[in-house]
Amino acid sequence: MEIINRISRMSAISSKLISSDVQIGLVPTMGGIHPGHISLIEAAREMTDLVVVSIFANRLQFFSNQDYVDYPRDITKYTELVLQYNVDYVFAPGEEEMFPRDFSTYVQIEKFGESVIGIQQPSYFRGMTTTVLKLVHIVRPSFLFLGLKDAFQGAILRKMIRDLNLGSEVVVTPVARHPSGLAYATRNCFLSESETAAASVIYQSLKSVEESIVRGERQARKIVNEIMRVIGAEPMARLEFAFVADPLSLEPVSKLQGTVLIGVGARIGATSLNDSILVEIPAE
Ligand code: AMP
Repeated sequence: MEIINRISRMSAISSKLISSDVQIGLVPTMGGIHPGHISLIEAAREMTDLVVVSIFANRLQFFSNQDYVDYPRDITKYTELVLQYNVDYVFAPGEEEMFPRDFSTYVQIEKFGESVIGIQQPSYFRGMTTTVLKLVHIVRPSFLFLGLKDAFQGAILRKMIRDLNLGSEVVVTPVARHPSGLAYATRNCFLSESETAAASVIYQSLKSVEESIVRGERQARKIVNEIMRVIGAEPMARLEFAFVADPLSLEPVSKLQGTVLIGVGARIGATSLNDSILVEIPAE
């Protein structure tokens, strides 16, 4: 395994690999490697010839400067961790390397899943699409491995890749969870013991609506109400968003049919967490 910090070195390696018909799998991360990231690496290992894990905490994707400053950044520890999973390259460019001071070109998706995307700060998505576009140009992956936990990102990046003819394919993998159901997330390290216990309410709300759907509930409004009820019953949690949408277009759904994406975001103490599930609605 090699750790690469320079864009020129990564580009040179990927060009050489592509010319020898090697299929590259890219797992983009912001660091804070946890079992969720490892599940993406394992999927990439299975589907591709060579795995690149990128580690880049993109300032534009943080809710505040403090959130950015506090984010875990122990590259040596993360590299040792991914080394155990047979990763070929870790691409870990510095901020100046990716976004030099005079950087001013951004990619932004318009007229797409606006009601769902509007839940987050607009700069978040611009930051994500711009960074991933740069990573795809540099690493040139055949497949880009993303987690279902961050529900919007798969749909948005798939659309960007199609709109801009980038030629990579998005693979979305299931959410890796603690035994309590809490989705692994880098920000879980900010939770106290009692907050960690309280945070499992996020997955409980998703399980609860899944059960309602099995019992025949088909109204998205009622699903959102149910999430509000479950999260509302946990004093340490504050609901930030809940939605039911089409997983490809991110358009909100009013009556559940086909496959639906259900997403929840909640603040546990000072930490914002999110989770999602895909539900297949049986034909009537
Ligand atoms: P992040 O480092 O938080 O930007 O996440 C990098 C990638 O890992 C994203 O595609 C996430 O959706 C994915 N990911 C994060 N947490 C999990 C999880 N618990 N299970 C599966 N994938 C995850």
